Amino acid sequence: MAEFSFELDDDQKAVRDWIHGFAADVMRPAAAEWDEREETPWPIIQEAAKIGLYSLDFYAQQYFDPTGLGIPMTMEELFWGDAGIALSIVGTGLAAVGVLANGTEEQIGTWIPQMYGDADDVKVAAFCSSEPDAGSDVGSMRTRAVYDEAKDEWVLNGTKTWATNGGIANVHVVVAVVDPDLGSKGHASFIIPPGTPGLSQGQKFKKHGIRASHTAEVVLDQVRVPGSCLLGGKEKLDERLARARERAKSGGERLKNAAMATFEASRPAVGAMAVGTARAAYEVALDYAKTREQFGRPIIDNQGVAFQLADMRTRIDAARLMVWRASWMAVNGRPFESAEGSMSKLFASETAKQVTAQAVQILGGNGFTREYPVERMHRDAAIYTIFEGTSEIQRLVIARTLSGVQIR
Ligand SMILES: Cc1cc2nc3c(=O)[nH]c(=O)nc-3n(C[C@H](O)[C@H](O)[C@H](O)COP(=O)(O)OP(=O)(O)OC[C@H]3O[C@@H](n4cnc5c(N)ncnc54)[C@H](O)[C@@H]3O)c2cc1C
Repeated sequence: MAEFSFELDDDQKAVRDWIHGFAADVMRPAAAEWDEREETPWPIIQEAAKIGLYSLDFYAQQYFDPTGLGIPMTMEELFWGDAGIALSIVGTGLAAVGVLANGTEEQIGTWIPQMYGDADDVKVAAFCSSEPDAGSDVGSMRTRAVYDEAKDEWVLNGTKTWATNGGIANVHVVVAVVDPDLGSKGHASFIIPPGTPGLSQGQKFKKHGIRASHTAEVVLDQVRVPGSCLLGGKEKLDERLARARERAKSGGERLKNAAMATFEASRPAVGAMAVGTARAAYEVALDYAKTREQFGRPIIDNQGVAFQLADMRTRIDAARLMVWRASWMAVNGRPFESAEGSMSKLFASETAKQVTAQAVQILGGNGFTREYPVERMHRDAAIYTIFEGTSEIQRLVIARTLSGVQIR
């Protein structure tokens, strides 16, 4: 197990500076344009691919970094550059992690490379779990997967919503119900290979923030995939379902939900995104406060402004520490006995909302315009308290973990 450290080593610092260079030189200057266009910034993803910043190798290296700091460091720098463009770059990772967590070695080797493509032909992937009637309440999922034994195929029907890269992805990972009697224990994940008939994009959403990231519905109409597309394989699924039925029958101990454990481990990454956006807005506000003069002195000379900046920076640092702790715990297999993953996401996402709002205030009228980036950062920050579990759901997870009570 790697010792927990507050300091990046020299290699990590070099990688961080390299990502920061891309974020500052390529992403920042393009951020306002892609926000207005509300389109996936393919040329920027391609540039990232050319230097190896959008590649399976790079993310695998960060994901398996035993210090746990590889992913939070990467997320913070990219989202410091621009949240919408960054999500277009890292959105594929959500689908990749879904395969990594549940797939066989063969599935991992076959599908994850196809999610990224290569520098000459970049691709993205989508992870589709949410549905119109199943957001926070994952157990209400309706998309059905039925096994056609004669053909060894699964047939999927349903509508997914809010899918990042949905419909434009090369590979879609879809969560569907295989046994409706088991609630969320009766779910399984499937690969939908490129060009599979029956999968189509529904409406593309026009959003408040992270507008350079594509978010859309995904419609599955009689989608047939080979048995080999069930993540983990049929044997493992049958065993898991049998155990769940047994437990349901005996009314015994609650089954530990694998999906929830995965979420708990992936939440610090979202926290790190929020830290990146918060830090970006704080830096703009600090610079502005030092140069903007009113009443014959820079506005930072007023405690009313300076103390806000002190609070902003304190919260950002506290959020980063919580994110790093949870990431280290996840990578080193430490149990989240106090829901530390959820805590880090809750605190960092609320911090990003608060800090970006304070930055808008410090910039006054300028903060309210699209001439300055804090307006966009404030809109972008609103997503962190919503996706990968809303703040209310994080509080629910934390409170249940701490108390053992099934708080509703
Ligand atoms: C831009 C964007 C990208 C996304 N990307 C993806 C993706 O790639 N893949 C994917 O599967 N999903 C994705 N999502 C979906 C996201 O995870 C959901 O929006 C989120 O889980 C909330 O679900 P909901 O929108 O249905 O809200 P609801 O669940 O309807 O919640 C509405 C409100 O009620 C509150 N609430 C609900 N239940 C409770 C409760 N028990 N106690 C207290 N409060 C409660 C919520 O906190 C929230 O404030 C994305 C969403 C957005 C906006």
